[in-house]
Amino acid sequence: MTTTSANRRPPVADAACALVRIREEGGRVTAAKRSVVELVYASPQARTAEEFADALEGVDRSVIYRTLAQLEELGIVEHVHLGHGSAVYRRRGLATVPVACLVCGDAVEIDVASTEAFRTQVESDTGIALDLVHFPLTGRCRRCRS
Ligand SMILES: [Zn+2]
Ligand SMILES: [Zn+2]
Repeated sequence: MTTTSANRRPPVADAACALVRIREEGGRVTAAKRSVVELVYASPQARTAEEFADALEGVDRSVIYRTLAQLEELGIVEHVHLGHGSAVYRRRGLATVPVACLVCGDAVEIDVASTEAFRTQVESDTGIALDLVHFPLTGRCRRCRS
């Protein structure tokens, strides 16, 4: 999956706004699509496509994959590579950055503001504005280090 210009669109505020954006782009809002959108906005928790499928019994897996891809194109969700496993999807516009342990897969969210000094430094040194979400900060947690 690539980052497209669609991702420069502002995130939407809630599930209702997400459905409006889908309709504006000529997409049909099916029951399956609506349930994926509602789950995305039910909590800030990021989930793999498989976890969406487990949570939405009766919705075909291929429909979930297609819906997540469409929501991503519309700038409604973003995917995050937390580790070596499948990417996870979360709604865009969250003011947090994931920090993940590559050994056990534990992930915590930190306030994006607390990464500001680091991002500013890297950008002034390299010209690269760090994203820190698509590929989050990773390392080894306390438990996995001991
Ligand atoms: Zn990716
Ligand atoms: Zn760990």
